[in-house]
Amino acid sequence: MADHRRKWNREEYEEKAKKRRKGEDATSEGEDEEFLGEPLKARDFRVDLESKVGKSSIVAKTTHQSQTGGYFCDVCDCTVKDSLNYLDHMNSKKHQQNLGMGMDPERSTLETVKKRFEFFKNNKGQKRPKQPLVEYKLKSRLKQQVAGNVATSEKERIRDKQKDKKKKLSR
Ligand SMILES: [Zn+2]
Repeated sequence: MADHRRKWNREEYEEKAKKRRKGEDATSEGEDEEFLGEPLKARDFRVDLESKVGKSSIVAKTTHQSQTGGYFCDVCDCTVKDSLNYLDHMNSKKHQQNLGMGMDPERSTLETVKKRFEFFKNNKGQKRPKQPLVEYKLKSRLKQQVAGNVATSEKERIRDKQKDKKKKLSR
């Protein structure tokens, strides 16, 4: 029976890899390897994606780019059109480099791991504050609703009156 498994010539590929590594050493001008900033760190803040949802704003010719809608990155001075791309941008190499970080993650040491454990130990009992339960009482809600309706119908009545006046005046 023939063996259908692919067989790799280890020596051949070892040789190729060595050559490739040497070649990279010789031409390490590629921007990929060039940048050596601080090690990559985790974000310690929440990326704001929702605060402008459902809001509208006026965009004029002189409006600064950061106010023209979409997601503006003040580090890179660029605007991204949607939240998905914005998040991608925040995690992108370009953005990290503009922040002064390389793409190599920080290596954990025994010390940092210990600190992390300590942190969780200290925060064990503290759970996230729950949102206060809003109690809905039918009667008070109904009252509010009715009051609201009365108010709007009152407004409508006044508006209609004013319209009538205008009509009369324009005759
Ligand atoms: Zn950026």
